[in-house]
Amino acid sequence: MILCRTAVQLETALARQPRERTLVPTMGALHDGHLSLFRIARESPGAVVATVFVNRHQFDDPEDFACYPREEEEDFERLRQAGVDLTYAPDEQAVWGGEPPRLEAFERPGLTDVLEGRYRPGHPRAVAAVVSRLFDQTVPTAAVFGEKDYQQLVLVRRLAAERQPPIRIVAAPVVREPDGLAMSSRNRRLDPRAREQAAGLHRTLEAAAESIKDGLDVEQAQRQAFETLIELGFEPDYVEVREADSLCQPAPTDRDLVILAAARLSGVRLLDVVRFGLALS
Ligand code: AMP
Repeated sequence: MILCRTAVQLETALARQPRERTLVPTMGALHDGHLSLFRIARESPGAVVATVFVNRHQFDDPEDFACYPREEEEDFERLRQAGVDLTYAPDEQAVWGGEPPRLEAFERPGLTDVLEGRYRPGHPRAVAAVVSRLFDQTVPTAAVFGEKDYQQLVLVRRLAAERQPPIRIVAAPVVREPDGLAMSSRNRRLDPRAREQAAGLHRTLEAAAESIKDGLDVEQAQRQAFETLIELGFEPDYVEVREADSLCQPAPTDRDLVILAAARLSGVRLLDVVRFGLALS
């Protein structure tokens, strides 16, 4: 595996790689959820390129940025074993060139100002900015993103479609712990009691999706799920049902839906999503 630290090293190394390449962007601290993305990337022709970069601009809390787990050597070993051809692990200078990103350019109404954008203003735009920069630098033909960060996936699809030529985005299903908790680098910050409670988030979303399938009104299902999370000890930001492709509020005729939630548990903010279909009536 080739390891590049600077934009110049990357450009030189990419010149020797196949023109077809699949990018998997990560913030490191890799777990089995990430590794599933590399397996999916390897199914595409050409090279597999990973990035490991913790983007300061997408953290609203400097403490959260400072505490974000960093374990480069272990990550590089995992990437080698995952069959990655090239890893780009740049510093901030290599990514931004000393200029902070112009976040206003990444506003996409309906995608950056909803859900996460309401509770973490600026976060989706900063994600869009870093993904765009990594697309510019690595010039992929395809990229794999996890459904775990569902809003990010929909936003990235939009960015990728806007590019010339467009980049093909492949969605990877959520990888979960045996009790249903979505794998996340943040899970290790849960104390043993919170870790046990944390699976309640997925259970609650699954139950809400089932009740909507059984005919319960969407608003009521959202409200009930929100209240259940509070009873289970979470501090939810939102529980919302959206149309799966657009993230718009669901219309009565929509059949492909997602229920998305963000909730804090003992100071750790967890995200989860369940995708579900409604039978044609
Ligand atoms: P992160 O390092 O958290 O920025 O995640 C990098 C990529 O891995 C993103 O596309 C995430 O959606 C994806 N990812 C993280 N956790 C999971 C998971 N449990 N299952 C599937 N994909 C995941």
